[in-house]
Amino acid sequence: MKILLNKATLFETLRPFNDLGFVPTMGGIHKGHLSLINKSNRLCKKTIVSIFVNPKQFNNKKDLKSYPRNIKKDLKILKKNKKIDFVYLPKFKDIYKDKNKSKIKLHKKDKILCAKFRKGHFEGVLDVMDKLTKIINPQKIFMGEKDFQQLYLVKKLLEKKYKTKVIPCKTIRDKNNVALSSRNFLLNKSNLNVAKNIYKKLVRIKKNINKKNNISDFLNSQKNKLKNIYQIEIDYLELRNINNLKISNTNKNSRIFIAYYLNNVRLIDNL
Ligand code: AMP
Repeated sequence: MKILLNKATLFETLRPFNDLGFVPTMGGIHKGHLSLINKSNRLCKKTIVSIFVNPKQFNNKKDLKSYPRNIKKDLKILKKNKKIDFVYLPKFKDIYKDKNKSKIKLHKKDKILCAKFRKGHFEGVLDVMDKLTKIINPQKIFMGEKDFQQLYLVKKLLEKKYKTKVIPCKTIRDKNNVALSSRNFLLNKSNLNVAKNIYKKLVRIKKNINKKNNISDFLNSQKNKLKNIYQIEIDYLELRNINNLKISNTNKNSRIFIAYYLNNVRLIDNL
């Protein structure tokens, strides 16, 4: 596993390879990330992982400050995995020329779910993914369905602009079905217990959805119930079509999407 610390070394090293799988991450490596890496290893000759906590995609300074960072531990886990050929650890200046905001604009119809609640977040994500793809020039990019809206928007942008394919990867969960996330490192036992119960409730809600005449009213009342039971803030609880992310009124081709806060940590999931 070769560590690449800047663009120049990266260009030099990657030049001979034309079957490259890319797994972009912000570190805090967990089994969710490793599943993307394993898939890349199966489908591509070489795999490159990037670790870059992209400040431009954080709409909240506190969130950026508290984001889990442990590069030593991450490298140890990645090395042990034995399926990674290259790790790219860019500095801010390697990616960006200046601190200005992203020039990428979201379409009005895409300002839903997390885009509605995290102003500027996806503009930052799309900008960094555009830049990383230009630098790395991978044949395939592996991204998790846990961040479904991110996957949807990045796929739409990159597959139009580059020859790369964005490959969706299933959400990996812990033994209690809580979706793995680097942010889970910031949760205590009791928070994780609530997350486990929320997952259970979501399964129930999804099961019952098709029996309801007015799904949006049903989800609204369920959202309020969850808020009251667990004393939590919920940004959204919505049923959306997985192909266009439009509000859906059937379970078919649809998932429920949730974003909520535990211990001031914002968690998202979909099922
Ligand atoms: P992050 O480091 O959180 O930016 O995530 C890097 C990549 O890993 C993104 O494509 C995420 O969607 C993906 N990912 C994060 N958590 C999971 C998970 N639990 N299962 C599958 N993929 C995940």
